[in-house]
Amino acid sequence: MNSIKFDVIKNKSKTIGNEMFQLMEELFPICRSITGNGVRQTLKIIKKHIPLEIHEVPTGTNVFDWTIPKEWNINDAYIIDPDGNKIVDFKESNLHVLNYSIPINQKISFSDLKKHIHTIPEKPDLIPYVTSYYSENWGFCMKHNEFMKLKEGDYQILIDSELNNGNLTYGEYYIRGKSESEILLTCYVCHPSMCNDNLSGVVLLTMLAKYLQTFKNNYSIRFLFIPETIGAIAWLHINEVNISKIKHGLIATCLGDSGSLTYKKTRDSNNEIDKAVVNVLKKSGKKFRILDFFPWGSDERQFCSPGFNLSVGSLFRSIYGTDEFPEYHTSGDNLNFMSITSLAESFSIYFSILFELDNNFYLQSDKSNLSKNLIKDSKKETSKSTKYLNLNPKCEPQLGKRGIYHQIGGQESTMKQRKMEFEIFWILNLSDGNNSIQDISRRSGIPLSDLQSSIKILINSKLLKKIEK
Ligand SMILES: [Zn+2]
Repeated sequence: MNSIKFDVIKNKSKTIGNEMFQLMEELFPICRSITGNGVRQTLKIIKKHIPLEIHEVPTGTNVFDWTIPKEWNINDAYIIDPDGNKIVDFKESNLHVLNYSIPINQKISFSDLKKHIHTIPEKPDLIPYVTSYYSENWGFCMKHNEFMKLKEGDYQILIDSELNNGNLTYGEYYIRGKSESEILLTCYVCHPSMCNDNLSGVVLLTMLAKYLQTFKNNYSIRFLFIPETIGAIAWLHINEVNISKIKHGLIATCLGDSGSLTYKKTRDSNNEIDKAVVNVLKKSGKKFRILDFFPWGSDERQFCSPGFNLSVGSLFRSIYGTDEFPEYHTSGDNLNFMSITSLAESFSIYFSILFELDNNFYLQSDKSNLSKNLIKDSKKETSKSTKYLNLNPKCEPQLGKRGIYHQIGGQESTMKQRKMEFEIFWILNLSDGNNSIQDISRRSGIPLSDLQSSIKILINSKLLKKIEK
């Protein structure tokens, strides 16, 4: 990477922040999902900035443990209340409909309708974002305060959607470098009208790609615009033979809020990308936080599954799913929530990380891989306690079809269910033959006794087996 050119672009980051926000304004109204025309429309707009290659994967294609679902499209949805007023109108907010709702058009009593309405009582003025991709269902989402005003009577409901055989669509852009070794940058294009999660990642990667096109890099750089989870799994399945070319990677998400930058390390935590990110964050002089890897979150779950264990971290701002980001997965995550300064700063940091990695290209040797293997070998000898093996190590297994994962996504499920899911994620992620259950307990902070019942569930589901000594 040419350093004079690098400085020119870095100094332009304020202007680029504005450009990112404008693109976000254009993409915001589109109703996206994991498949369908919303994704295609989104990719078409991105294509105005970079020569994106669009891929379609047909419904029914098996990708590891998963199957590409039917394609979902929606035209309209609303409720007519007993007084004839149109309420919960999809055209006002696409969050009003449960994402992936099957079509429905009928008169329904209030007590039956209630069962299909999602609200957040603790955030009564926000519409929740709720999905049901793998279990056919229909539903509406609304502000809790509006829901409280509804009265008994007959309601006319309409969801004008289609769920048919079609495709899963994703976009890819590859900038060839001097070497075939790659840096992978990914974001997801499956969320409807929400900004931080994850249009901020989409606009950041679009602008990074746009401004990097003209550089002569040592590394090749690959940009993915994929639906979360199923898109990452499909991409890894299709590109499995070339996976070893990926040397470093980052998942770009939640980069436009005003919180400080947060880096979630890779599964092995001491890779070149971990050092590069920390170094750039330190040099920036801004406040930042470092999190150890945990096996849930975004697509690092797939890229860092034990069968791949890629050096992929994630750099974001406020931590999603915690109190510091109450707008997460709600109508509060809108354009007003975005800070152009944060978007510009996020761009500048990502750009600097790529510069740092590319500059260190020739400093790298196979030594790091060698020492990594040595650590694993020595661990193998010393750890004599019980070990289990994940029988589906490439990406996560589809837990939903085995009845061990919540069916309605987007909002938090019960505490007990979440606790079990966290235990399952840790066990599956670390059961690579090297870690004992004691190691898993130590790293996850979950008591050994708590892990036992989840181990039993996984063995019964044929996802895990005990390694005989
Ligand atoms: Zn999300």
